[in-house]
Amino acid sequence: MTHLLSCPVCQSTFPDTGELACPHGHKALLRAIYPEKKLILRDEPGLFRYAGWLPVTEIPFTRSGPVTFRSEGFAREAGLSNLWIGFTGYAPERGAYVPTCSFKELEAWPTLIRHRETGGGTIVLASAGNTGRAFAEVARETGDPVLIVVPVRSLERIWTTEPAKDITLIGVEGDYADAIAVADRIASLPGYRPEGGAKNVARRDGMGTVFLDAATTIGRIPDQYFQAVGSGTGAIAAWEASLRLIGDGKYGKTLPGLHLAQNLPFIPLVSAWQAGRREIIPAIDMPHPEEAIAAVEADVLTNRTPPYAITGGLFDALRACGGAMYGITNRDAARAGALFDETEGIDPDPAAAVACAALLRAVESGAVAEDDCILLNITGGGYRSVSERYPVKPEEIIRPAELPVCITEKNHA
Ligand SMILES: *Cc1c(COP(=O)(O)O)cnc(C)c1O
Ligand SMILES: [Zn+2]
Repeated sequence: MTHLLSCPVCQSTFPDTGELACPHGHKALLRAIYPEKKLILRDEPGLFRYAGWLPVTEIPFTRSGPVTFRSEGFAREAGLSNLWIGFTGYAPERGAYVPTCSFKELEAWPTLIRHRETGGGTIVLASAGNTGRAFAEVARETGDPVLIVVPVRSLERIWTTEPAKDITLIGVEGDYADAIAVADRIASLPGYRPEGGAKNVARRDGMGTVFLDAATTIGRIPDQYFQAVGSGTGAIAAWEASLRLIGDGKYGKTLPGLHLAQNLPFIPLVSAWQAGRREIIPAIDMPHPEEAIAAVEADVLTNRTPPYAITGGLFDALRACGGAMYGITNRDAARAGALFDETEGIDPDPAAAVACAALLRAVESGAVAEDDCILLNITGGGYRSVSERYPVKPEEIIRPAELPVCITEKNHA
């Protein structure tokens, strides 16, 4: 038996043939429904330990996966007695082998396998850096064709740990929004398929393995969950993983509070949620986006079109779980990140440093209790321990209005 997909609007369920949306046209995030209602761990070294709740059939071999450990040093500094770190990155001394150093790799693995199992074609994605690097590395391992579009200033972030062939990297002279527009145009051409972002169940359930790893390590669903968010996909994944764990019955009955942080001054999700609104109103929630985005240190958090209002999206996750949103300055993030590094010995991604700062803020304000069971999702880090880096060479650099020549030629042939 394999998994099905279900639409939260019309409740219809259907076999997974790679859909990113309800065939009846409903605007909602589809969910995967797994035949195993209890989590059965596979004997795998990485994230495919949780393959029972991943939308794939084949299980590739990889050590890449999340790790969970109890915090001592950072917990002491924060004044917490039951703090757990969910870490995705590179720290062999912690058993963490994610060479591209972010939880985007947890999305890339099941997404590429599901893509191949549901018809294949070249998968197309836009990235500001971490997603592109993760998909490049995993595609290098699996041999699946990918086309990655990034703004030129992110080109240097796309590297692999061994030289990569068959990865098409396109640089766009513009920002992340321009890269998304180019990727959308390419993905509509024959032979190409969009990766789908938050709409892809493989991406969400891949990210959800951080939460599964935490719950199985701790023995229960944590009371509180902290994460830095750009799209909110990781937080939606934590909510969905919690629902499945509650269904299992062994991990508790209560959803975790979601404590989510963005990097000031670009904080559309914080702004809309604090106003109690389901809709993001650009003029109110993200005025002067170009300048605000340029001022943000953790630029992987600067998504302009997050899956917030959509049914089954971040607003619904926050409403179901309860919680809070935090706007964090570059300065507070840098300080909290340095404290995490000093106390836990891992250099956090700038985005993960934002989550560290949110946790310190929440303790100070009394939003969490000293003995709460808390999961801090360190979504990336360990960069300084990765020695092998082979830059992926861009095939072409184009303007936002253009299409790459390598693609237009193929379509005319
Ligand atoms: C992408 C990313 C995030 C934000 O995740 P979302 O699911 O898009 O909200 C946080 N931290 C790191 C390191 C990331 O790469
Ligand atoms: Zn539907």
